[in-house]
Amino acid sequence: MRLDGLWLWMLLVTAGGMVVSSPVAAQATLREAPTTALAVTGARLIDGTGGEPVTGVTILIRNGRFADIGPDGQVQVPDGAHVIRADGRTVVPGLIDAHFHMNYPTTPAGTPFLLHPALSAYRSIPVLERHVMGGITTLFDAGGYRDGTIMAKEAYRQGWITSPRPIVVGERINGTGGHGVSRFDMAVEVDGADEFRRAVRQQIHAGADLIKILPPYSREELQAAIEETHLLQRRVAVHSGYLRQLAYIRWAAELDADIIMHAYALPDDVIRMMGEKGIWAVPTMSIMMKNQLGPRYRVDNPEPHQYEIIFQKLLEAGVRMAIGTDALYQYMLDNPGLYFDEVERFVKNGCTPMEAIVSATRYGAEALGYGVTLGTVEPGKLADLLILDGDPLADIRNLRSVLTVIQEGRVIRSDLPLGVVPPP
Ligand SMILES: [Zn+2]
Repeated sequence: MRLDGLWLWMLLVTAGGMVVSSPVAAQATLREAPTTALAVTGARLIDGTGGEPVTGVTILIRNGRFADIGPDGQVQVPDGAHVIRADGRTVVPGLIDAHFHMNYPTTPAGTPFLLHPALSAYRSIPVLERHVMGGITTLFDAGGYRDGTIMAKEAYRQGWITSPRPIVVGERINGTGGHGVSRFDMAVEVDGADEFRRAVRQQIHAGADLIKILPPYSREELQAAIEETHLLQRRVAVHSGYLRQLAYIRWAAELDADIIMHAYALPDDVIRMMGEKGIWAVPTMSIMMKNQLGPRYRVDNPEPHQYEIIFQKLLEAGVRMAIGTDALYQYMLDNPGLYFDEVERFVKNGCTPMEAIVSATRYGAEALGYGVTLGTVEPGKLADLLILDGDPLADIRNLRSVLTVIQEGRVIRSDLPLGVVPPP
């Protein structure tokens, strides 16, 4: 059979989906699933729904998804399956960082990364690896350099990088001189409702899963951006706290933004509106406190910081919150330690350990619009799973004690032995 250029091109498009200009649907990025079934047995399961933990559980994973979950001995584990015995250990869903920037510079003056998108992409590889090894199986990149984060999705899907599953906004959108361009040129700069609309369309066409808007914007510009994003069936995240100009974030709540990022400066009426409307929050307290407080940043510091007081108000108002780090600069390299700090800060400020685990898993997925495929250990969902040495309900710090990371049914790393079910 002769393949001329057009046919070859079409074949490449259908086989690999690699043509960069084609739009990428806002679905969880799927890798080719492992062919061998995997079972985790003897586990104490915290499934991420918020329900009570169950002991003596077998979790069977097939084709990258949870296939069966039930009491040991009742779940049929097929011959030849890989088995990890997790007796006495706790199992939780893979963690989600709902605010990250994979290709920001690692120092405030770190412009070498901005010389070329390829450089920023290479630099993000070890950062991504570190995260998935630490238990972060999905991350939401809330704004990247050029189309680097959109390309990371494809690299992940192809299996070229060891990384949390990227869910990305591509480039952020702001008015002239806005937050995304004030220090680095890392946002699309547009003015007028039509330009905001067009920027939303361009990002989604290029492969963005969500849209992120940064101030400044007029009410009309924000309204156009939110309306257009919703028409294109995506969610909008809006950055709060810029210039402490509270009108910006008030408009975001009034106009039904889906997620409000950062709990740095949220007035009480906005907090109330968020609770009433079900607008999600990703408070990212720890990074800013680390920046400002030095050693007093520690989670066990009894004195509540102003950001923690805002967090407590959000909790009181019934606002559902996901865990995000916003780790920039040198803090990227502290991660995922910073992620666990944020989880522990949720508990310090009024969440139960179970609620903090739900925020780190199910709420992360739901906030981003991926609740159907990610966030909990339930049949049919993508099999992202951690085996922990300690009990995080007894002490939330045990969430750090990750022994095994399973992502989409693939063992990314494990300190526990991998067995095989022998044929009868
Ligand atoms: Zn951010």
